[in-house]
Amino acid sequence: MLKIDHLSASYKTIDSNVHVVNDVDFEINDNEIFGIAGESGCGKSTLLKTLYDIVEFPLEIDKGKVVLSGNKNGKRFYFESGEIRKCWWNQISYVSQAAQSVLNPIVRLKKQFLDSIPKEDRKNEKPEETLKRVGQYLEVLGLSPDVLDAFPFQLSGGMRQRVIIALATFMAPNVVLADEPTTALDVVVQRGILMMLMQLQKHYKSTLVLVSHDMGVHYQITDRMGIMYSGSFVELGKTKDIFENPIHPYTKMLIGALPKVGDRTPKVGIAGRPPSLKNPPPGCRFAPRCPHATEQCRSEVPVFEEIMPGRYAACHLLKKGGNQ
Ligand code: SF4
Repeated sequence: MLKIDHLSASYKTIDSNVHVVNDVDFEINDNEIFGIAGESGCGKSTLLKTLYDIVEFPLEIDKGKVVLSGNKNGKRFYFESGEIRKCWWNQISYVSQAAQSVLNPIVRLKKQFLDSIPKEDRKNEKPEETLKRVGQYLEVLGLSPDVLDAFPFQLSGGMRQRVIIALATFMAPNVVLADEPTTALDVVVQRGILMMLMQLQKHYKSTLVLVSHDMGVHYQITDRMGIMYSGSFVELGKTKDIFENPIHPYTKMLIGALPKVGDRTPKVGIAGRPPSLKNPPPGCRFAPRCPHATEQCRSEVPVFEEIMPGRYAACHLLKKGGNQ
């Protein structure tokens, strides 16, 4: 479905390049919820932008590509980086973290829906017929069709985010990319939004790619996940396996720091800070914070490889076929 082929991307600044995505290589399958986790600034949102083909100056792809392929209504499709925007809404769509920055505050929502549905997909309908279909879809998602007459500023944050999800899924795209879709919402609304995304994925058997720094969100809804650190994946596999048996030192420390119900032992954070992406250290980028770092770690970049079936990690201490 989505193949990310040795992709590297950086932001160009006056005096240097900031390498935000560094040789990322993995696949996302049909009909799965794939999570991308990691600390702020690790490159997860930029990776999502490259999947959606929002690659505009100062962001540039330095190496590799993204391939989106599949089947919709019996027709095969295939798009590479640079072409993916041709199938926006239809085959792939994007839910951003800030609904207020996506919706035009001074345009009624019905016009924003009509503008986002390509003419060829309106099946020769009159605008009012298309809006009737949109209204029916909003009702299925628990929103009143009356919101179509509203301006975005008249809705609450949670309702605006639901409208964005309705907009992103109305054309039943094969892939939905969601970047921190519950940021700035209270926990009750957050849960409603996550359940909505999950139900839509199950209904359409589509693929949902969810970026979140919240490990609890990944635990609740993703099937597989990748842990990013300083622009690269350090571990990738089934979510359940990663939580039950993390194998990379960074993932172990990340999961060990999570609070658990009934567990009163003090939690230890990860000492230090992620390295600068402008001038990252040689070798393993986690070495300055890793309690197991060796001389080899400080000079050689570990290969991201399959350690056991379906489980990938980048660490010199891990050998194929087992743990450390
Ligand atoms: Fe730690 Fe070395 Fe593994 Fe990096 S490669 S995570 S420094 S043990």
